[in-house]
Amino acid sequence: MEKKQFQAESKRLLEMMINSIYTKKEVFLRELISNASDAIDKIYYKALTDDALTFDKDNYYIRIIPNKDNRTLTVIDTGIGMTKEELESNLGTIAKSGSLAFKKENEIKDGYDIIGQFGVGFYAAFMVADVVTVTSRALGSEQAFKWESRGADGYTIEPAEKGDVGTEIVLTLKENTEDESYDEFLDEWRLKEIIKKYSDFIRYPIKMEVTHSKPKDDDNGEYVDYKEEETINSMVPIWKKNKSELTDEDYINFYNEKRYGFDKPLKHIHIRVDGTVRYNAILYIPERAPYDFYTPDYEKGLELYSNGVLIMNKCADLLPDYFSFVKGMVDSEDLSLNISREMLQHDRQLKVIAKNIKSKIKRELENLLKNDRENYEKFYEAFGRQLKFGVYSDFGANKEVLQDLLLFYSSKEKKLVTLAEYVDRMPEGQKYIYYATGDSIERIDKLPQTELVADKGYEILYFTDDVDEFAIKMLLKYKEKEFKSVSDSDLGIDGGENEKETEAEEKEYQELFDYMAGVLDGKIKKVKASKRLKTHPVCLSTEGEITIEMEKVLNAMPN
Ligand code: ADP
Ligand code: MG
Repeated sequence: MEKKQFQAESKRLLEMMINSIYTKKEVFLRELISNASDAIDKIYYKALTDDALTFDKDNYYIRIIPNKDNRTLTVIDTGIGMTKEELESNLGTIAKSGSLAFKKENEIKDGYDIIGQFGVGFYAAFMVADVVTVTSRALGSEQAFKWESRGADGYTIEPAEKGDVGTEIVLTLKENTEDESYDEFLDEWRLKEIIKKYSDFIRYPIKMEVTHSKPKDDDNGEYVDYKEEETINSMVPIWKKNKSELTDEDYINFYNEKRYGFDKPLKHIHIRVDGTVRYNAILYIPERAPYDFYTPDYEKGLELYSNGVLIMNKCADLLPDYFSFVKGMVDSEDLSLNISREMLQHDRQLKVIAKNIKSKIKRELENLLKNDRENYEKFYEAFGRQLKFGVYSDFGANKEVLQDLLLFYSSKEKKLVTLAEYVDRMPEGQKYIYYATGDSIERIDKLPQTELVADKGYEILYFTDDVDEFAIKMLLKYKEKEFKSVSDSDLGIDGGENEKETEAEEKEYQELFDYMAGVLDGKIKKVKASKRLKTHPVCLSTEGEITIEMEKVLNAMPN
């Protein structure tokens, strides 16, 4: 048995990697399972071109065996295996990826896709193991070999016995320290959880014996444990299935299984794109806002998968803030991952996907608004504010995307209407889109300022949300019609005679007005006669850009 040494640089690299690439130890299992899956894929590819080889999917699997007594975790696959030379070059050389080489040699582009590319994932095993033992028998070879390493100090290779083609990796887990426990990686329940999280959509079954208990036969209330092998992963990702095969139920189940929310989704969007960047996505518009949605604690983002392997739990870059309520996942083969697979190398593809997703969500919301008003209003009740924030933020950069998704309560319709609906039924002669702000519909109904506008037969939009008026100020106009507050001193409703009359009254009551202005000194600028009142004696109005309601909001904002 010959002992080989890592080169000095490799040693350091290995240590660095083991300790710093990954943020979570649990990903070691993802890496080993991905390698096992790649190894099976390779047989599949070989079978495509080699007549002597057949590929019966049922014969291929990955098996996970925790052993608490020996403190070992074993990962077995029935893949292509490694020769002595391959063990040496692929596992003995850091950053050497046999899988990447295989992809290049075989010019693999579509369909089954091999995950490996960096040649480092395997070493993640040393985050949790003191000793890693790899016994492998390559396809077409009778002789197996055993590779063993304790990490940085090198590895050994020697001939070994192995009945079947494939690879068996035994991790001897590290001893627990005061700060770290490794016992979780021997726990069936925890292993299941990790497999589900990262490797649920590996195309081959990942099997593990799971303990169950059943009542003893003699019926005295006692239970006995028994073990049964289960396939842990679901294998075929729902997003790779044909839409026609899937029912609403399937999408709802996926939503629940993934815990995207505890409500029922209002709508799902299943996207498959085969353009310059290929990706699949399943997105959901939830029915209700999560309790922390309108707080800084809320984290937006979609799950990001690369070839069915989870890369990121919440990829924020995939969603604009104004669609932050959208839940779901994106899977792409075209991402350039960084070495830890936790981040992307550069975000060109991601940007394309994000842009694409944005317009799909917009279109779906528009469809919902058009075809299912009831549900749209439900959606709007939960997330309308976020859309309005979206119009307001970034200096109105997104107003084009969002303006047709807005709804406001209408004085005429007594329900929520769109801006388009408002403008389309504006009577001739009406110059502005009128709005009134207040705490509630009931209070706005009673506002004296609305009287003249309503009297004219003009519709008024009621703004009951703080953000409403700010959003509208950002829009400036809709279909060339400007917005106007009913408390604006110039309502744009023809004055003519009225103006003169007002001037006369102004003189007549000057003394009273001066007195009132004196009493309210510092609270108001001036008192004047108004023609807009019908049944109320007095109202407040403003001049310039900032209305009374906006002032209230601004004054209430923390500095
Ligand atoms: P990557 O998967 O990115 O190529 P790894 O460090 O995970 O890098 O693995 C290095 C190489 O070792 C792989 O490319 C592959 O050639 C080989 N390898 C690892 N695990 C297995 C396995 N279970 N069966 C066959 N070959 C394997
Ligand atoms: Mg790998």
